[in-house]
Amino acid sequence: MWIIGNWKMNGTGEALAEIAAVAAGQWPVSVELAICPPFTLIERAARVAAGTRLRIGGQNVHAAPSGAYTGDISTAMLLDAGATLVITGHSERRAACGETDADVRAKATAALAAGLTTVVCVGETETERDSGRALEVVATQLGGSLPQRRDGLIVAYEPVWAIGTGRTPTPAQVAEVHAAIRSIVGAGVLIVYGGSVTPANAAALLAVANVDGALVGGASLTAASLLAIAASGSET
Ligand code: PEP
Repeated sequence: MWIIGNWKMNGTGEALAEIAAVAAGQWPVSVELAICPPFTLIERAARVAAGTRLRIGGQNVHAAPSGAYTGDISTAMLLDAGATLVITGHSERRAACGETDADVRAKATAALAAGLTTVVCVGETETERDSGRALEVVATQLGGSLPQRRDGLIVAYEPVWAIGTGRTPTPAQVAEVHAAIRSIVGAGVLIVYGGSVTPANAAALLAVANVDGALVGGASLTAASLLAIAASGSET
C-alpha cells in the first residue's frame, strides 16, 4: 500500500516542519509513505526525511537526460536531490501544460530506467464520465502512457472531477475503474486512487478491491492529516 502526498505548487522552507513531523510520525509497516513537494524543497525535504521510512519525490520530470529544456528537471537531478519517486502525467499537467500520452510515456520510461518509482496518472473528466466514457478514456490513456517496463510502476486513477473538489466517486465506481485498470496492467502493478482523499474517507476508499493506496493532494499538506490517512492503510 502506498500513500503519496502531492504538494503541487505549495510550500516554502517553513513547510519543512510538516515534513519533519511526518518523518517523525508512525504509520503501518505495510504502508510506503511519500511526499512530493515542489522541486525547490526536494533536497531539503530529503535531508529532513533521511534515516526514516518517509520517501521524497518529484511532481514531474523531463524525459531527456540533459539539454536545452529551460525550466525542466531530469531524472538525474531528482535522484541527486534525494528523490526516489516521481509523479508523471498528473491531470493538471495534461490540461495546463499540454502533456500528451506520448509525453507521459517518455517521462515514465526515463524515470523507471533511472530507478525512480514512477506514478503514471490517468482519469476521466466529468463530461467524459457523464457520457459513459470513463472506462474507455482511462484505457486509452493507459494504452498511450504506460511504459513497457512495469517494475517500479504505480498507476494512479484520478478522476479529474474529484481532484480538489471534495467530491469522490462511490466505492462501486472506484472498484469498476480499478478492476478495468487491473485487467490492463496485470497483478504486479500497484493501482492507487486519487481525488479528494481525506482522513474521513480514506479507510473506505482504501478498502475497495484493487485499491493499493492513495495519491493525496490537499490533505497531504499537514502532517496530522497525511499521517491519519497513512494510518488507514493496511496490507494489500
Ligand atoms: C492530486 O493532486 O493528485 C489530488 C488528488 O488532489 P486532491 O487530493 O486535493 O483532490
